[in-house]
Amino acid sequence: MFSSLRTLRLATLPSTRAFTTSRFAMAPKHHKVTVIGSGPAGHTAAVYLARAQLKPTMFEGMMANGFAPGGQLTTTTDVENYPGFPDGVLGGELMDKMRAQSERCGTVIETETITRLDCSERPFKLWREGYDEVTDTADAVILATGASAKRMNLPGEETYWQRGISACAVCDGAVPIFRNKPLVVIGGGDSAAEEAIYLTKYGSHVHVLVRRDVLRASKVMATRLLSHPKVTVHFNTVPTEAVGNGDLLTEVRTRSTKTKEEGSITASGLFYAIGHEPATSLVKGQVDLDEQGYIKTIPGSTLTNVPGLFAAGDVQDKRYRQAVTSAGSGCMAALDAERYLSELEVTAEGKAKL
Ligand code: FAD
Ligand code: NDP
Repeated sequence: MFSSLRTLRLATLPSTRAFTTSRFAMAPKHHKVTVIGSGPAGHTAAVYLARAQLKPTMFEGMMANGFAPGGQLTTTTDVENYPGFPDGVLGGELMDKMRAQSERCGTVIETETITRLDCSERPFKLWREGYDEVTDTADAVILATGASAKRMNLPGEETYWQRGISACAVCDGAVPIFRNKPLVVIGGGDSAAEEAIYLTKYGSHVHVLVRRDVLRASKVMATRLLSHPKVTVHFNTVPTEAVGNGDLLTEVRTRSTKTKEEGSITASGLFYAIGHEPATSLVKGQVDLDEQGYIKTIPGSTLTNVPGLFAAGDVQDKRYRQAVTSAGSGCMAALDAERYLSELEVTAEGKAKL
């Protein structure tokens, strides 16, 4: 198994548990507003909600959707484009700072994953992982569950997953099996460019397979990639099979998307960087999603088609998917939720109705 930065980070958390069986029922806790997810969107929403004295509770997740609390940025090294850090900042450090700020402003952070959300009536009902009964209710929910890397399901992928194949170069790139060995990265976006350049620190050479004749990556990243002496970009090329010796990956078979010519690259590592899947399993069937599965929000706002449910960050953004745009939409979600809550008539029991 690969060692992983995400696992290391998780080991430093204040409370870490793995739930394999049902937990005892607990009396449901009621919240005015909860935030599900702990990336830049979730933490920015929490800071604004706490400062508005709405006493938010954040469920930061326990390796939810494959990520440590803090989200996607915990899997990267330098973040150079988040304002306020002229020398850049490590992704994990940035998320630790956001978490500290959320707490300092008064957010209650629960290191729990929400496995079920019922938004059919108010208050909404939430289930923490391992519980069969409702554990929490909320008048408003901000969904900031983010997104995760896509896999390709190539022949050989199941056999060599974590034995040469990975979807996180930054987490896994430093392990010995990749040292001074040829490596392959799939994809033509910013992730592929960043991961390929990162892998040049460890591998002897990095081959990037791009299915079209153009990179999707930003100009600055594309230029860095194309000019790197340890990188070869193979345009119009896709992988067709992951081949190995039964234990570890040794080769990636390829095909030209133009000529259909078959090829092969000797490689000890295969890294996917082909985009992301929004984490919408909690609301599928309850909320309008677009054709790619992202939550639909009313343009210019974070309002979903369910009153009281707001969506922020990568889970509703297939276009920008940046830390700063996620943070921005987290702010919008908090302001939208604050307005929504102020328009609710609150009963004596503290339960809200429209
Ligand atoms: P995420 O960061 O995806 O976080 C969501 C969190 O919610 C996760 O921790 C997850 O565990 C948790 N969660 C999910 N489901 C549940 C649940 N049911 N219950 C509880 N918790 C749950 N952007 C930049 O601006 N600059 C960069 O340099 C940059 N580098 C990147 C490098 C890599 C390798 C990657 C993959 C992305 C990078 N990005 C970068 C993009 C950036 O990380 C994302 O746009 C941003 O993190 C999205 O924030 P988010 O809050 O929407 O969600
Ligand atoms: P993108 O969606 O931007 O790019 C995905 C790439 O993978 C595209 O080149 C796509 O090809 C290719 N691809 C998709 N499916 C397949 C497939 N089945 N076979 C072969 N190739 C495939 O995703 P990224 O993860 O690169 O970036 C996500 C967001 O995160 C972006 O907004 C990006 O800017 C941001 N980010 C920013 C960074 C930074 O600023 N430093 C670093 C990393 C990410 P095609 O182009 O043909 O669709």
